[in-house]
Amino acid sequence: MATHLPNTANLHNPIDVIGDAAADRYENSINAVIKDEGVDAILVILTPQSMTNALGTAEAIVRISRRSHKPVVCCFMGIFDVSKGVKCLQENGIPVFKFPENAARSLGALYRYSSWLNRQHMAQFPLKHDTEKAKAIIQSCLDEGRMAVGELQGYELLKCYGFNTMPTKLAKDETEAVTLAEEMGYPVVMKIYSPQILHKSDAGGVIVKLQSADEVRQAYSTIIGNAFSYNPEATIEGVLIQKMAPKGEEVILGANRYPIFGPLIMFGIGGIFVEVFEDVEFRLAPILRNEAHRMISSIKGYKLLKAFRGRPETDIMAIEKCLVSLSDMVMQHPEIAELDINPLRVMAKGEGTAVVDCRIILKDVGDAAPIA
Ligand code: ADP
Ligand code: MG
Repeated sequence: MATHLPNTANLHNPIDVIGDAAADRYENSINAVIKDEGVDAILVILTPQSMTNALGTAEAIVRISRRSHKPVVCCFMGIFDVSKGVKCLQENGIPVFKFPENAARSLGALYRYSSWLNRQHMAQFPLKHDTEKAKAIIQSCLDEGRMAVGELQGYELLKCYGFNTMPTKLAKDETEAVTLAEEMGYPVVMKIYSPQILHKSDAGGVIVKLQSADEVRQAYSTIIGNAFSYNPEATIEGVLIQKMAPKGEEVILGANRYPIFGPLIMFGIGGIFVEVFEDVEFRLAPILRNEAHRMISSIKGYKLLKAFRGRPETDIMAIEKCLVSLSDMVMQHPEIAELDINPLRVMAKGEGTAVVDCRIILKDVGDAAPIA
């Protein structure tokens, strides 16, 4: 290439063919550059001067780019001087812009498009859902006019979609609470069960890590007392006894219906990450594993799920599976208006997840057919 260019020319990226270049300098340079293995694409910028032959240069570009699979994008600056060249490029399907910024942007878009085409397709999960049972649970709630599905039935519904839940039983008095806790094995968690108390902790309605019959008995009366002072009108159905989940990170999964676009899936890290930093990701359902993975990896708190300061990496694949299952669930049951799993406990890699709280709100949609 050096032999075809003046001494003052810059031979490195970006190559400068010097202002007085006629078509041949462009042709020789592009020819040399396009053969270089280190070059993936070419941006030809032509700034018209008295010597410029816009048409001749355009014809050379067309000739060369026909022989190569590498993208060539042009920027012919000026309007009148270069119009013949621009026309020639356009007729031959070569993108041409007036400003280099736009030309560079189009190369950027091309790069993103090719990365997307070449993206890794993760193997899908072999999911088997018990759609019929889920339908029956939803219908029984609708028949009873209960639009907020209780935690107990919520877990049953989630189990139909392969979610792992912790054993949970309803105790109606202290004695029953102790019996159930003994059967389940310690440690247990106890939670107020009332259709009017949706945020149980706010009502002093959750006590974790209970280790003995005495602690359970004590917790029962504390929880009932707290709930009563929080909302004296609330119907208290009893206290849930739930097996304590193993240690892990807490994440949040959610779904609601976005007007016009349909079901929306939400993912975030539990606690202050969602409330203070609003570190959440949304995707329109249906989603498959690739989107689920991207949702998880795009939140800022992703680092907490990877190995971090001596803590083991969490079971990210299991969260992906939960997100895909959640998407299937809302697609198949238009009656689910809102759903929160807050939190989903995520254990170390290979050890799975456990739903330890859920809130599901239904809506009677009549005969609306499921979307998929
Ligand atoms: P709330 O209605 O206040 O959201 P939760 O059922 O989510 O009540 O309980 C509050 C917190 O207690 C949870 O965010 C979680 O950290 C902890 N927790 C609840 N259930 C369990 C459980 N089974 N194992 C371990 N921790 C639990
Ligand atoms: Mg909760």
